[in-house]
Amino acid sequence: MRPIIVAANWKMHTTAAEAGALATLIAGRTQHPDVVRVICPPYVCLAAVRDALAGTGVAVGAQNVHHELAGAHTGEISAPMLAGLATWVILGHSERRREFGETDELINRKLARAVDAGLRPILCVGEQVTEREAGRQADVVAHQLRGCLSDHDPARTLGAGLVIAYEPVWAIGTGRSASPADAATMSQLITRTIAGLGWGQTAAAKVPVLYGGSVTSANFGDFMTEPGIDGALVGGASLKPDEMAGIVARAGVTAQARRAAVG
Ligand code: PEP
Repeated sequence: MRPIIVAANWKMHTTAAEAGALATLIAGRTQHPDVVRVICPPYVCLAAVRDALAGTGVAVGAQNVHHELAGAHTGEISAPMLAGLATWVILGHSERRREFGETDELINRKLARAVDAGLRPILCVGEQVTEREAGRQADVVAHQLRGCLSDHDPARTLGAGLVIAYEPVWAIGTGRSASPADAATMSQLITRTIAGLGWGQTAAAKVPVLYGGSVTSANFGDFMTEPGIDGALVGGASLKPDEMAGIVARAGVTAQARRAAVG
């Protein structure tokens, strides 16, 4: 059974002073034994959030990592530097692809560094609005997956706990979400594509697929009724404890239902 995961992407929000208090509030309002919870604050808040979340069961993630281990890369953070601060990392978020020109080839290298460092990767994929309008979303996402995952050993990557976040770019921060049926179709495509990359169907089916794009406590339930969706990567709403409480509570309903279904 794939885990149900709710991951919070705080993007470039919160100071270190604010982050610990917010993390404490969210952890206290989202307790659910069947839901994997992750908070990904800005780098400078990682230590404060780690301390605030100690003993709560909520994991800490970074929002990015450099593709080299060390060197002359001013302003960057490498995977080994996250030791003791984070256990998860978001890779290939569309805002990084757009603002910093991250390519699939670069993200592929970041994934290697993350896995080597024992970080659990959330790999983001998703199409632009023009690509969706042209009906090219499946080709685009399959191409991204091939670029990001090729040359990675399936067993090792699966062992690292790879998670895919399907995030249509036009739905991120726009208040406009994909339809749950479309997200489910893309989830199937993602599993099929990973299977075709030498993973095989059994291994590929173990990779959780999250939906991301304007998720709120009001719309999240519709996504969780889709068997192929295993939770969410949440941006804007993840800064609001009430919203996170609603989202995790709804995730818990699905987690319990799926657990009951497998006995
Ligand atoms: C995100 O940051 O990955 C995201 C999905 O943002 P939002 O929920 O604000 O659309």
